[in-house]
Amino acid sequence: MTELYCRECGKTFSRESGVWRCSCGGFLSLRSEARFLKDRIMARPATIWRYAEALPVAPEEAVTLGEPVTPLVPVSRPELGAPVASKASRTASRLYLKLEYLFPTGSFKDRGAAVMVTHMKAIGIPEAVEDSSGNAGAAVAAYCARAGIKCRIYVPAGTSSGKLAQIHAYGAAVVEVPGSREETARATLAAAKTTYYASHSLNPFFFEGTKTFAFEVWEQLGWAAPDALIMPAGNGTLLLGAYIGFKELLAARQIEKLPRIIAVQAAACPPIERAFRRGLDHVPAVDKGETLGEGISVARPVRGPEILAAIRETGGAAITVPENEIKDALHSLCRSGYFVEPTSAVAWAGYLEARESGLLPDGVTVLPLTGSGLKAGEKMLKRLPYLPSKPSLSSGRGLVGVVPTETVQ
Ligand SMILES: *Cc1c(COP(=O)(O)O)cnc(C)c1O
Ligand SMILES: [Zn+2]
Repeated sequence: MTELYCRECGKTFSRESGVWRCSCGGFLSLRSEARFLKDRIMARPATIWRYAEALPVAPEEAVTLGEPVTPLVPVSRPELGAPVASKASRTASRLYLKLEYLFPTGSFKDRGAAVMVTHMKAIGIPEAVEDSSGNAGAAVAAYCARAGIKCRIYVPAGTSSGKLAQIHAYGAAVVEVPGSREETARATLAAAKTTYYASHSLNPFFFEGTKTFAFEVWEQLGWAAPDALIMPAGNGTLLLGAYIGFKELLAARQIEKLPRIIAVQAAACPPIERAFRRGLDHVPAVDKGETLGEGISVARPVRGPEILAAIRETGGAAITVPENEIKDALHSLCRSGYFVEPTSAVAWAGYLEARESGLLPDGVTVLPLTGSGLKAGEKMLKRLPYLPSKPSLSSGRGLVGVVPTETVQ
């Protein structure tokens, strides 16, 4: 059985109540007894719904676009400019990339949106609001479209045009809020007083979806946990989902220990890293600067205390990477064939940093590539020095049938 409980005062609510926050102001989580029946899991299609006994919604009622189990691709050492390991650790250590950008809307947010919107449909929610700088908004808009739920997405002015186009295309109403992302959150909270809040950072059902990341990794590694996870962290929706998932596997005695969680943030917006380093158990807001990692540019992560607790419980760490390293990381990922958005490169840069500073245990490390580069083309052309600032057909010299209108170089 599953029930909602307040993380502050312990009050419980029925799952069907539609409550997303306690009257005391505390955030809710779901208490569930996840079960893992390997035979049944393996007999089902390779989608997130194969872990049915661990989900708080009924897969037969799923609002779905066929969310696939994403590939887990091993990285060979010389690839991607990764430092060649010493002889001893070469055999002991392996790195895998999990291709989370292959979801229907182009990011792992589909895990959360699919499960949350399935729940919303099951309890009869007719309309909802959400705030997001991009991928979460796109995912919620897509699944609401599929479920026939009216939705309104609040975005900060200046959101990438690719993501904005996507949200509009799914038929969501878009409200652009001038000012920071935090002001967008405030405007949404006001709207959420009268409408269901389909929030990726607050709604517990979203995390019930992102936890499937852990189940897949466990199955793909031969029913075993990795030793470390390198997670890009903003609001921590994937980080906390992975933590919840591995905790459930541990409670069900399917794994022996939790993977060490290493959170990576952009140096320009490091609230979690700063709080971790100062030994705090809450996360004060930071003044954030410009970063290529727009998907994790969150000055005040609402579930900050949970994120810190997860990192500490797993013996993990929080680190930052500067903009030039994010740029270089994106370059090497793309050159290896992974066309991801700049935010995803933060994790790769973090991996190199974690290795360098001895934070990685021997054994298996998993790193998600979170979002597709296809939505961020314009931004990448503008901000990355190694791409042409004005690509045009005429730069494809030698293309048959293309008449150059302008000479490049
Ligand atoms: C949402 C997102 C992340 C992780 O952000 P959280 O706020 O920690 O969930 C990372 N990369 C991309 C591309 C994202 O969209
Ligand atoms: Zn409470």
